[in-house]
Amino acid sequence: MDADLAQLVPIALLDDQLADLHERIGRAQRKLAKAEAEVARLTAAIAGHDEAITALKRTERAQQTELERVDGLRRSAQDALDNGYGSADAAQRQIDRCAELADAAETAILEAMEAREARQAARTQAEADRVQAQEALATAHATLDPTIEGWRTEVRVLSTERSPLVAALARDIGGTYAQMHARKGSALAVCQDGVCTACSRVVPLRRTTDIKQGRLVTCDGCGRWLYAPPEPATSEA
Ligand SMILES: [Zn+2]
Repeated sequence: MDADLAQLVPIALLDDQLADLHERIGRAQRKLAKAEAEVARLTAAIAGHDEAITALKRTERAQQTELERVDGLRRSAQDALDNGYGSADAAQRQIDRCAELADAAETAILEAMEAREARQAARTQAEADRVQAQEALATAHATLDPTIEGWRTEVRVLSTERSPLVAALARDIGGTYAQMHARKGSALAVCQDGVCTACSRVVPLRRTTDIKQGRLVTCDGCGRWLYAPPEPATSEA
């Protein structure tokens, strides 16, 4: 039983390093995902502008057709008026009505053109922003990809170191370690100056002696196994 703590401490230290590496890899990957999302957002914005521009052009064409139709009506009314066909009043009313319709169509065309120009300007801006976002993404990949790869290599190396250490543990100890590690994030805690550094619970003096002798001692506060900190390098020279 006494050998267990000596076996567990190096595993716990490796697990701390592995957790740190996974944390760093996760952070770097989130950074890349964010840069990718920005490019995707701008691509979607550009597609939205394109759709709106197409719809506005359709509106402009439809209003142009309306303008031609109204002009035809106006000319036939004018013709009737000039040549004295039918009622002069009715012809005049049609001419007035046509002038109103033509105004409305022209206004609609102008509004659509203005909206289209605004959309085109926004599209140009989004296109420029996307170029920047793509550059930022490429830079992030250039710096982070090799870094992540390096961390992954470290993870593989540490995992390879860890496997035989875990395999050498008594089964019940290994099982408890794994459970505690999964539940609390760490199965071991340093007992520093008679206090558990994970939960601050005071460790009875008798047990600190047990810990120094390498026995498995459970913290009453957090349930972790306690171990003594590595001997500090003496500064007396
Ligand atoms: Zn504790």
